[in-house]
Amino acid sequence: MAARESPSDRCAGMTAFSRPPTVCENMNHRRANSPVAHCPQCGAVVNRNLPRRLCTDAEHAVSRRQGSTYCVGCGVQLIVGRP
Ligand SMILES: [Zn+2]
Ligand SMILES: [Zn+2]
Repeated sequence: MAARESPSDRCAGMTAFSRPPTVCENMNHRRANSPVAHCPQCGAVVNRNLPRRLCTDAEHAVSRRQGSTYCVGCGVQLIVGRP
């Protein structure tokens, strides 16, 4: 009864972050302490310790020009509906 749950099994589960539905290769997912709150590629929260930011349209315009699909500050989708 002591060997029901081996420590190695538990560790294997800890190495992988909870996977989003879309496979995202963005490096922010792998960082323990990401400088941004949201992933620019999928919009998922990568650092929940950062305070929620209220962005301006100007900031979103800059992010969009830099190729971010999602805002790293608030997670809103910037580029919508790629054909
Ligand atoms: Zn992502
Ligand atoms: Zn934003």
